[in-house]
Amino acid sequence: MTRFNILPHFLLTTAMTLLHNRINKEELKRKLQEETFTRRTISLYRYVEIDDPQGYRDDLYQKWSALNCFGRIYVAREGINAQMSVPEDQIPLFLDQLYTLPGLKDIPIKYAIEDDGKSFYKLTIKVRDKIVADGFSHDDYDFTRVGEHLSAQEFHKMADDPDVQVVDMRNHYEYEVGHFENAKHPDAGTFKEAIRMAVDSLSNEKDKKILLYCTGGIRCEKASAYFKHKGFQQVYQLHGGIIEYAQQVKKLKLESKFTGKNFVFDERLGESINGKVIASCHQCGEACDKHTNCANDDCHQLFIQCDTCRSTYEGCCSSECQDIFHLPPEEQMKYRGLKHNHYSRSKIYNRIAGPKDSIRS
Ligand SMILES: [Zn+2]
Ligand SMILES: [Zn+2]
Repeated sequence: MTRFNILPHFLLTTAMTLLHNRINKEELKRKLQEETFTRRTISLYRYVEIDDPQGYRDDLYQKWSALNCFGRIYVAREGINAQMSVPEDQIPLFLDQLYTLPGLKDIPIKYAIEDDGKSFYKLTIKVRDKIVADGFSHDDYDFTRVGEHLSAQEFHKMADDPDVQVVDMRNHYEYEVGHFENAKHPDAGTFKEAIRMAVDSLSNEKDKKILLYCTGGIRCEKASAYFKHKGFQQVYQLHGGIIEYAQQVKKLKLESKFTGKNFVFDERLGESINGKVIASCHQCGEACDKHTNCANDDCHQLFIQCDTCRSTYEGCCSSECQDIFHLPPEEQMKYRGLKHNHYSRSKIYNRIAGPKDSIRS
C-alpha cells in the first residue's frame, strides 16, 4: 500500500489541488516580476445600487482581463470596492471604460504613494453579500447619512482640538504598524467588531466631535453613518482615508501626523508614510513592521516577522508550524483542521487584543 492510499479520497484530492495552486501561484508571481512594463496600484470604491452583481462582475472581468489588470475586487448589491494593479499605458482606456459603467461616472481613484505596481499577480472579482461587512441588516441604519468629509488640512486642524476624539476604524494589526498620533482604536479583528466597539466605548461622549479614519475611506462611510444613527451629533471622516491623506501630505508638503506604515491588503502589505517603524517582530522583538502570513498553509496566521526570524523560522510563526511546513503535502493534510498549539498565535492575541469592550488610546 502506498502512502497516498492511507488518506481518505477527499483529503487526497484536496492535497493535490493545494499543490497545484501553490505551484500556480509561484509561477504567476514570477511572471509578474519578469514584466518589463510599468504598473500602478490604484483603489476605488462606491456605494451604489447594483441590481445584478453577477452580471456586473462578469462584465468587469471581461473588460479588465483584456486590459491585463490584476487585483481584488468585490461587487455587491450595495456597490463596488476594488484594489488593483493596472498597466500604466492602459490607464486612460481603463478610466474611459470605468466612467461609463453603470453608477461609476467620475468615481474617485486613489493612487498608491509607495509603489512599484506589483501589488497583485492575478485578477480576482468576487460577488459578495456586502462590500464592507458590518454585520447589520439592510434597514438597521441609514448608511447614506454619512459624516462630513475632511481634507488633510482640515483633519490636522480638527485633530489638534483636545475635545475631539480621533478614532481609527481599522483592525488591530493595521493600527499596530501605523496610525495617527493620539488616535483611539477598538481592539478589533474585523470591521463588524470595530464599528460596535467604537460606538459603545464613546457612548458617553455624544456631545464631542468624532473624527474617524480608515485606509481608503470606505469603512468610515458606514462607521460615520452608524455613529450618527446612535445619536452622535458631530461626526467627521478623513476624505479618501490614509491613502489620499498621504498624497495630500506629499503634494502640499505638510508634516504627517500619521506615523509608521499604512497597512494595505495586497502583496505589498503596507506603504510607509513617514519612514518610521513603530512595531516590532512578534518573535524576537526587534523593530519591524513587515507582516507576513505563516508559511504553514494550515495556520496562515498574519503576524510581524523580521528578516532574521524569517530565515530562522522559514517564514513560519513557530517551530511547530515549521515542522509541519517540512512534511510532504499528503502528511501535512493530517494536521489540517487539528487544533495545535500555535505559539505565536496566542502570543499575538495577548499582545494586540485586549478586552473586547475597550478602546485603547
Ligand atoms: Zn525577529
Ligand atoms: Zn503558523
